[in-house]
Amino acid sequence: MEYPKRNKVLIIGSGPAGLTAAIYCARANLNPIVFEGYQAGGQLTMTTDVENFPGFPEGIMGPNLMDLLRSQAQKFGAKCITRQIDNVNFSSQPFVLQSGSDILEADSVIISTGASAKLLGIKGEDKFVGKGLSTCATCDGFFFKDKSIHVIGGGDSAMEEAIFLTKFASKVTVLHRRDTLRASKIMVDRAIKNPKIDFIWNANPKEFLGNDDKGLNGLIYKDTKTGNDINIDTDGVFVAIGHNPNTSLFKDVLDMDSSGYLITEGKSSKTNIPGVFASGDVQDSTYRQAITAAGSGCMAAIDAERFLEEKGEL
Ligand code: NAP
Repeated sequence: MEYPKRNKVLIIGSGPAGLTAAIYCARANLNPIVFEGYQAGGQLTMTTDVENFPGFPEGIMGPNLMDLLRSQAQKFGAKCITRQIDNVNFSSQPFVLQSGSDILEADSVIISTGASAKLLGIKGEDKFVGKGLSTCATCDGFFFKDKSIHVIGGGDSAMEEAIFLTKFASKVTVLHRRDTLRASKIMVDRAIKNPKIDFIWNANPKEFLGNDDKGLNGLIYKDTKTGNDINIDTDGVFVAIGHNPNTSLFKDVLDMDSSGYLITEGKSSKTNIPGVFASGDVQDSTYRQAITAAGSGCMAAIDAERFLEEKGEL
């Protein structure tokens, strides 16, 4: 194994929450081990300019920010492993975790597995993912040079995707199910001022259309005002309707709310199992920002350190 079998702190996930937890744990001499997953860095690796992370007045590219956080954690001795945890057993201590055929033990665990893009669950969606249908403008925007494309959603993610996509596309139409946007004022203003962006309001997507060879080429939405089904052409669609927490590993193991977010106790990162802590988007359905994730990663590290101290493990 490329890492110790027994660990004081094992961190699952490598977004801003996991890596901030790693920085704090490493500086507390807890020798944290970070299971980064196969897509290290989390959601920020799929974004472009991050303009609201304090300390970067000119903004910073998401992947660069994650590289910096990772280097900072490694500088203090955190071990980052590009593998995922496949199974957890939190029923007794030390906790037992499995990665492939490796079995590891940990006195405490910090869960920072983040969240993943939601899909609509409508007809044709599965068929066209990767064939004209995407959830990541940064990843796939380049393929839509001079095309006329649609973005579904009315929140900050949708505005961000739409604005970014105007770098490539000739026209971006935002399709929103209501007639008011949920996004923040600054993002709404930018999108509305952008000459390449148009809006279709009160439009509830029903079905994606296309063919096996050429992929997606249209969609049907219901006009919620008239009740009519409207059929439109498109060169591509980006679904940007929010995220689901990555908690399937902890189903029937840790307490979750009705949307699957891990429940933490009061103003702490404590889950219902002592010694298991949660930070970042996996436990936050309200703020979901890089900086709040980083802050909660710091809280989880401090909670883990205090837990180990009380147990006499330090
Ligand atoms: P969100 O705020 O939950 O917005 C989701 C949008 O998708 C809403 O407009 C919603 O419509 C629509 N939607 C949801 N389910 C749908 C469905 N089945 N069919 C059609 N439309 C559907 O999610 P988000 O935009 O990902 O933002 C999440 C959080 O991250 C927010 O706190 C946001 O501020 C933050 N964020 C910030 C930035 C930034 O600061 N640059 C960028 C991205 C995200 P309704 O409005 O009708 O509910």
